[in-house]
Amino acid sequence: MSTQTDADHGATGLPDTREAVRRWDACDPLAPLRDAFALPAGQIYLDGNSLGALPRETAARVQAVIEAQWGHDLVSSWNRAGWVDLPQRVGDKIGRLIGARPGETLAADSTSINLYKLLAAALRLRPERRCVVVAADEFPTDLYMAEGLLGLLGDRYELRLVEEGASVADAIDRDTAVVVLGHVNYRSGVLYPMAELTEAAHRQGALILWDLAHSAGVIPLSVAADGVDFAVGCGYKYLNGGPGAPAFLYAASAHQAQLSTPLSGWFGHAQPFAFEPRYRGADDIRKLLCGTPPVLALSALEVGVELALQAPMDQVHAKSLRLVELFMGRVRARLRDAALIPFGPAAAAERGSQVCLRHPQAWPIMQALIARGVTGDVRAPDILRFGFAPLYLRYVDVWDAVEHLAEIILTASWDRPEFRAPRTVT
Ligand SMILES: *Cc1c(COP(=O)(O)O)cnc(C)c1O
Repeated sequence: MSTQTDADHGATGLPDTREAVRRWDACDPLAPLRDAFALPAGQIYLDGNSLGALPRETAARVQAVIEAQWGHDLVSSWNRAGWVDLPQRVGDKIGRLIGARPGETLAADSTSINLYKLLAAALRLRPERRCVVVAADEFPTDLYMAEGLLGLLGDRYELRLVEEGASVADAIDRDTAVVVLGHVNYRSGVLYPMAELTEAAHRQGALILWDLAHSAGVIPLSVAADGVDFAVGCGYKYLNGGPGAPAFLYAASAHQAQLSTPLSGWFGHAQPFAFEPRYRGADDIRKLLCGTPPVLALSALEVGVELALQAPMDQVHAKSLRLVELFMGRVRARLRDAALIPFGPAAAAERGSQVCLRHPQAWPIMQALIARGVTGDVRAPDILRFGFAPLYLRYVDVWDAVEHLAEIILTASWDRPEFRAPRTVT
């Protein structure tokens, strides 16, 4: 991109005018992909890290599965349409996005449940160790699931919480069985160095389980090359699989022979249709399946994953960095004196594809933004969170979003009763 020499660029190298930002869009190699999404007109969607946008093809694909496969072919579709292999088929496509080898990734269950299965399986691989290391500011479901599992196992285990800002590597010792870590923290946006921390865990003989909810589909990943033991992640965020889409799990092939799942449902059986009275796990990644796969939801997820595979990950990441930098630069330019406190790392390269800003009136400010067609979200207690999905966002959306934010804050137009009303989902 030749934007650095543009006359409209200020000392920071960022565009100073909306016109210059439009030129960034004009030479964005990913710009054509936006058309593959059904975004409502006038909507600036900065919440793709919570619920990804709807691909145009999803409705037709799911409709075909409903009418032809379910409606007409009925139960024969388990074989004929390959429903039975969907978790592996979609899993392997996700595997390509995260740098896994074929046969190491499954699309199944929710992130919470996959974390439970893999954490239990990992603990069994380190039976003599007594400690699980987790970041204290981790997405709560990871903490809750670990707490529930360890509770079930009696008082054998310590859940060691690493306080925000403290070194994860220093918390790992010879008693650590497993480290559970979100690759990108959902709130601060901190991006942890995957290869480095995986190696730190291995140096102590521990295993590592990465939660890729906020990095799969937006940050280049190479789980196999980085020696990652296990990973989980979401289907409904940057993979655009739809609300409540199945999640995914990754288990390195080197571990698969020794792994056993705590949720020994029939779909993980070596021969589900032998209907044997005793459980005997499959000898490959399928041993981590539990019950019948959600065919409609997996079909929708497959569309989102196929779209993500169309975009070269280095281009996606480069655009993510630029969207983040532009947003932060515009906030500095327009809102220097406002009571906004940037939260998380200053350098775009040290964060995920999101920006968080603290403000005592975060909730009503976000409601005022949403009323203007700019959607982000709020994370307790006072954090305005903006996510940047490079497949469908334009640079001009970022420019306009900050203009709206500035108007709302500088004129205090958030200060109205209708913007203060609480909601269940934030
Ligand atoms: C969104 C998210 C989840 C969600 O888990 P579900 O089981 O799908 O509800 C888990 N972990 C992280 C880090 C997340 O950001």
